[in-house]
Amino acid sequence: MKNQRAESQLREKDNEKRKTYIREYMKNKRNDTAFRGRKNQKKRRKKISDVIRSFHKNIERGPEYVCTCCHQLWFRSSVKKGNLLVYSHCPQNIVKLCLTGCKSVDNEEWICFTCDSNIQVGELPSFAKANKMNFPDKPEVLN
Ligand SMILES: [Zn+2]
Repeated sequence: MKNQRAESQLREKDNEKRKTYIREYMKNKRNDTAFRGRKNQKKRRKKISDVIRSFHKNIERGPEYVCTCCHQLWFRSSVKKGNLLVYSHCPQNIVKLCLTGCKSVDNEEWICFTCDSNIQVGELPSFAKANKMNFPDKPEVLN
């Protein structure tokens, strides 16, 4: 009887020691900078994969969007729909010069953010076709 009681007391002590050791180990692991670094690395990797996915989504379509104002080719992320209503507060002579009615993807009129920001402040965009910055006709020798 005495032996059994002593053995169970020893087992309880061992269990308590083990639990204390595990508690300390987990506490140290949480405070360990290397462990936290690995955790952050996983987060960072996930963010990078999101960035890569976003990039692939942005370049899904090539630079097929023609700016109605400067006639340059842009990716979707660099243009927005050219809408007369958006420019109702801008000088209408500049708006009429810039929104040329040039349509491209989805048969919509697109305008690049550079031209848009210039029109928003009432300036003629420097690369605007109306500013005589259009591309020359393709020479015959290149056909
Ligand atoms: Zn433009």
